[in-house]
Amino acid sequence: MHSIKIDPWSSENLNDYEHIFREFGLEKFPDELSKKLNHILFERNLVIAHRDFQKIMACMEVKKPFINITGIASSGRMHFGHKVDLDLFLFFKSKKAKNYFAICDLDGYCSRADAKVDSLMKAKEFAIENLSHALALGLTQKDVYLQSNKPAKYYSLAFEVSKKITENNYRAIYGDINLGKVSAVLLQMTDILHGQLNEFEGKMPSITGIGLDQDPHARLVRDLSKKSQYDFEVPSFIYFKHQSGLQEGQKMSSSQENTAIFLSDAPEIAAQKISKAFTGGRVGVEEQKKLGGQPEICKVFEFQLFHNENSKEVNEIYSTCKAGNLLCGACKQKLIKWTNDFLIKHQKKLIKAKEKAIEIVETKK
Ligand code: SF4
Repeated sequence: MHSIKIDPWSSENLNDYEHIFREFGLEKFPDELSKKLNHILFERNLVIAHRDFQKIMACMEVKKPFINITGIASSGRMHFGHKVDLDLFLFFKSKKAKNYFAICDLDGYCSRADAKVDSLMKAKEFAIENLSHALALGLTQKDVYLQSNKPAKYYSLAFEVSKKITENNYRAIYGDINLGKVSAVLLQMTDILHGQLNEFEGKMPSITGIGLDQDPHARLVRDLSKKSQYDFEVPSFIYFKHQSGLQEGQKMSSSQENTAIFLSDAPEIAAQKISKAFTGGRVGVEEQKKLGGQPEICKVFEFQLFHNENSKEVNEIYSTCKAGNLLCGACKQKLIKWTNDFLIKHQKKLIKAKEKAIEIVETKK
């Protein structure tokens, strides 16, 4: 069996999911649960695997509290790929979870050695921008926290965590490491576990939605939860597919200006990017009408799949494309309209959200 290295900082496109499930002991997300959970990310099989999700399901069924914890690194602009994390977070929030959304300013500063986040001030600027988007998407001040604003107990836990990870652990999981990445890992572990301290919610199940490339963090934190002096419930995880960029073979990434649509992009910029997107269209109109398109490999369709909540519309795009009754130009126009409507609404909310974000970051509330 060849070995696949999953590295949170430089993941490749992962297609052979079955192989990865086997190698890392992930469980495939059960179809019957995907149908039961009323959200497009589950219904459309974009959540593909889990570790111990049954604990969360059990809580949701009897309305018992559980911790909903995720975060976003303050090291770049937020794009639609990040929105997927927020969508999942908001889904669990709607299930009456105890919510912890981390704005990872310290993590962003520690793990990025490049000039983009060369000071804590710069990390704060990204924190304000990302927090503004999170608030505009529906989170409230109560749901979010800034790592650098956490009380002493959080940092005591980070030190405890640091005693339980050896250099060999780091190298086995992450390969090449540097001190910045080590600090970032400690903070991420602490983010996931600290909600279970008595000073916060106390011991209870927790859920975090991540991409497959983040599994090393999940394995490590689950292991740490068992070794800690505190009595932690082993954290649960669900794994979603990453939305790819608009061009072939690329991730949606903050460092790829042309292949990502940012939540702060002007609608006309988003339209330009979509009009140049890679599609599953055929070489000419006649061939497309004869053979139909290939939505399975199309970035325009993938975008609809991840974000357009109107399943009837998405199904229709799929079936008319396959039947050769929809051409890529018209199909891109549909996505341009959807994206423009979304961005205009979102950016209107952003003005107020930014005032709130500044208040939270500056006054350390
Ligand atoms: Fe993609 Fe739409 Fe073209 Fe089909 S018609 S290949 S979904 S852009």
